Amino acid sequence: MTDFYKKLLENNSHWVEKKLGEDPNFFKDLAHGQQPPLLWIGCSDSRVPANEITGTKAGEVFVHRNIANMVVHSDMSMLSVLDYAVNVLKVRHIIVCGHYGCGGVKAAMGNGSYGIIDNWIRHIKDSYRFNKEKLNAIENDDERFNKFVELNTKEQVLNLAKTSIVQNAWKNGQELYLHGWVYGLNSGYVTDLEVNFSFNTDLHEMYQLDI
Ligand code: ZN
Repeated sequence: MTDFYKKLLENNSHWVEKKLGEDPNFFKDLAHGQQPPLLWIGCSDSRVPANEITGTKAGEVFVHRNIANMVVHSDMSMLSVLDYAVNVLKVRHIIVCGHYGCGGVKAAMGNGSYGIIDNWIRHIKDSYRFNKEKLNAIENDDERFNKFVELNTKEQVLNLAKTSIVQNAWKNGQELYLHGWVYGLNSGYVTDLEVNFSFNTDLHEMYQLDI
């Protein structure tokens, strides 16, 4: 076993001791159930940890992560997480968090082939196509990359709003707010893109479900 791997188990023991020192009922209370107010949909990137960035504790954030924080409406994993979060846990906020320097977004801007992931990256390429006028107008490569990270995140918030799960919740009068954030790897700060949706009339009428 590598030292790194052994260290993980040691770290776990230390963490348990520390938590119990702060609150002897910490694990007992968590074992009773969860009522997180937030669903986080973020990138799998190891540098974007949801709880650390938001200063939230275990039990406060329900999390779904994939490459480039995509909301793909045929992705059963995402739909299951979303359905459970909205209809069982009754989260009040959903944040889609993109990040500058995202490898998935970068790959979507080029023509490289990386294996099966190409099929996932295709969804990000669709996002580029929907926003190509805005993006192609930016000459500087870094600026265009940053803008694409932002526009892709906005597109995924829109994709969330288009789901029957979110539209049903709104129709039933459930309080549910959707937000788009971008995290800066260089700074640690998040930027709220202010794509705040709280009802389906915010969507293009073609996507408004009559439910
Ligand atoms: Zn990423």
